[in-house]
Amino acid sequence: MTILDGKKISNEIKNEIAGEVQKMKDRGEKVPHLAAIIVGNDGASETYVASKVKACERVGFESTLVKMSSTTSETELLNKIKELNENPDIDGFIVQLPLPPQIDTQKVLLTVNPDKDVDGFHPTNFGKMALDMSSFIPATPFGILELLERYKVETQGKHTVVIGRSHIVGRPMSILMGRKGFPGNSTVTLTHSYTKNITQITSQADIIITALGNPGFLKAEMVKEGVVIIDVGITRVTDENTEKGYRISGDVDFENVSKKASFITPVPGGVGPMTIAMLLKNTLLARENHRLE
Ligand code: NAP
Repeated sequence: MTILDGKKISNEIKNEIAGEVQKMKDRGEKVPHLAAIIVGNDGASETYVASKVKACERVGFESTLVKMSSTTSETELLNKIKELNENPDIDGFIVQLPLPPQIDTQKVLLTVNPDKDVDGFHPTNFGKMALDMSSFIPATPFGILELLERYKVETQGKHTVVIGRSHIVGRPMSILMGRKGFPGNSTVTLTHSYTKNITQITSQADIIITALGNPGFLKAEMVKEGVVIIDVGITRVTDENTEKGYRISGDVDFENVSKKASFITPVPGGVGPMTIAMLLKNTLLARENHRLE
């Protein structure tokens, strides 16, 4: 069994990006600039955004954090997005989700300029991705592709089962694994909460990608020997024995499933760190695209 070490691979990617940034500096060029908007003070969102900003510093990007109060109106947020769309110094930006209930998330995502949409959530980018055109691929699915590629995990002709159909992970992942090329050329089954007899489906899978947010959902008796497991789930589970009072759990019963798996991602240290690395990669691509305009 091989651990798909997202921490190690994400560090490699960050080092590669830092190398590219150094070359830009040596040529006297502008370095990539990522901005992040956060609305409200959700603890998990603040942690995610802080680690994205820290990652920018580590690779030599410029970063801007825009903090807006939880009472921000939709118009105020849309105006801020338009400001970032028009600011030539910003190469890419993200709006950290979830947003407070007074704000329509779809409207927000549609307002982001697709050329600066480094999260890859705008329908233009999603559509291009589905049509095999060059686009920003959402960071988590992009990170999973990168892990499969760097560990040379065979995907061609394999049966990939994706659990969860969210717009940011499950749905794009199902499209990407079915695309022509590597990683891809898989036969994909996309499952969700209405799927019947899911064990019957998962036990036939060569590759399982779990993105449902249900700690320990995937059990050893649901998978076959040699399966490849990608666990996207991140859930805080109360644990009095830890300093913080919680631990992070994935969607997979790692201890038992890993005994049957050929490759498996741990949680933490698997898909999570890859997501941040690929956000940086998308921002680097955005800078390249703007430079060539
Ligand atoms: P989400 O929007 O929370 O949706 C969950 C999906 O799982 C839905 O499609 C739901 O089906 C499906 N589902 C729920 N219970 C199910 C069951 N018993 N059987 C089959 N499908 C079931 O999904 P998300 O935003 O992708 O998040 C999923 C998990 O990934 C969360 O733990 C999140 O924190 C984590 N995550 C991690 C990263 C990372 O960087 N590692 C990034 C993003 C998300 P319906 O559509 O029918 O409701």
